[in-house]
Amino acid sequence: MYTGSCLCGSIQYQIEGELEPVQLCHCRQCRKAQGTPFVSNIPVAASAFRITSGEDAMKEYESTPGKIRAFCGRCGSPILSRRTTMPEVVRIRAGTINEDLPVRPAFHIFAAHKANWWEIQDSLPQYSDFPAQ
Ligand SMILES: [Zn+2]
Ligand SMILES: [Zn+2]
Repeated sequence: MYTGSCLCGSIQYQIEGELEPVQLCHCRQCRKAQGTPFVSNIPVAASAFRITSGEDAMKEYESTPGKIRAFCGRCGSPILSRRTTMPEVVRIRAGTINEDLPVRPAFHIFAAHKANWWEIQDSLPQYSDFPAQ
């Protein structure tokens, strides 16, 4: 089991079971939402994810129709995103997980949209948009 929280600690969560590899997304929305050149997400089964405290602090923003980004309304930490058309998966912001992770980044998505000031310096696959899964 893994645990995580936002910066201020208001929101605490748990993830049951094993983690999928990290996905790095360079899309413009993720860059804006995190303030960073890319976001590091881990897809988690919604059934394996549980908010253990601070659910009332969780705010949601629908960045495009059906795409929900959830964050702490007190400290602003991005916690997860989800699609209303895929309720079985939440995409956890990997940096909010408390423990050391056994998984590593697997690939870059929306690499064609990356910030021009960030060079991708690994040899992971780069997809110009989202790969078929
Ligand atoms: Zn917070
Ligand atoms: Zn993105």
